[in-house]
Amino acid sequence: MYNPDAKRYNTMKYNRCGNSGLLLPAVSLGLWHNFGDTGNYDNMVQMCFTAFDNGITHFDLANNYGPEPGSAEINFGKIIKENFSAYRDELIISTKAGYGMWPGPYGDWGSRKYLISSLDQSLQRMRLDYVDIFYHHRMDPQTPLEETMGALAQIVHSGKALYVGLSNYDGPTLEKASRILEDLRIPFIINQNKYSIFDRTIEKNGLKQKAKELKKGIICFSPLAQGMLTDRYLEGIPADSRIRTDGRFLNENEVEQNISRVRALNEIAKRRGQTLAEMALAWILKDNYVTSVLIGASKPSQILDNIRAIENTTFTDDELKAIDNI
Ligand code: NDP
Repeated sequence: MYNPDAKRYNTMKYNRCGNSGLLLPAVSLGLWHNFGDTGNYDNMVQMCFTAFDNGITHFDLANNYGPEPGSAEINFGKIIKENFSAYRDELIISTKAGYGMWPGPYGDWGSRKYLISSLDQSLQRMRLDYVDIFYHHRMDPQTPLEETMGALAQIVHSGKALYVGLSNYDGPTLEKASRILEDLRIPFIINQNKYSIFDRTIEKNGLKQKAKELKKGIICFSPLAQGMLTDRYLEGIPADSRIRTDGRFLNENEVEQNISRVRALNEIAKRRGQTLAEMALAWILKDNYVTSVLIGASKPSQILDNIRAIENTTFTDDELKAIDNI
């Protein structure tokens, strides 16, 4: 029987998500990798315990997380049922739909048909009555924005999601979507986008600034560039690393191309008394634009390391310039 740490709320920082009533932990846990059928179930359970014991209340999923697609939701549903049923009201669980999930024309993109049936499937897999946040996972150039936003509205009205979010939207589309959802009086509160020292897209496409202007939260995915912005690859490619266990999204070439920059960043982190992972997360949290950094992990110790990022999120101008130069 799992007994969460009584001191779990003592050290985590909670940030308001835009101007909503929802507070999110500065560090959240994503289940994209290591929670599918190829992961180790006991390790998944231990990662969830470590997260919650240290104040990480937010767990992020999507319909297609696996492999196999859907299996991360099934495993997480089992973990919740076996250990967290008494703590559901202390958890913020999110899922998404927007990428290919089932064959045929109704299992992808942003139609009303797809979003509503996908969330029903996700709830069944996770054995939940509702999720806290439901996201449209990516912009759909073919479906009218009004239809996609209308589907999100229907989902909130049905009680199957408390809040809605948008993922991988750019600044101008975010603004249009936000206006539609505001007219529909739907609590759209958060954007989920890639952001790290290595990937500044949201600074360039206007999302970072626009979200602040519209008083919406931002949660950043792949804040460690899938493990590159850590000590993981400093001495070669470990056998248990993401590259070796699942090379679909990060490969050896990318690490080779970036390793000298990683080493230079690691020296700055050392001078700050942080691990590179801690510094990379602190860098995102430094200016209060971002509500939460959405980390992945393959072991509980990584979660503990990453949480320490919140202890120092202040950077000198010289450090910021040196990081930008690298
Ligand atoms: P990260 O950039 O945090 O990469 C996580 C990986 O970095 C881990 O699996 C681990 O790799 C390594 N790592 C983490 N912490 C440490 C540490 N302290 N020291 C050494 N290595 C470490 O994030 P992800 O790319 O995993 O994405 C995070 C979440 O974001 C996802 O789970 C998902 O919820 C969300 N996401 C959303 C997307 C969207 O389109 N909305 C797209 C992608 C992700 P290793 O396995 O090698 O140990």
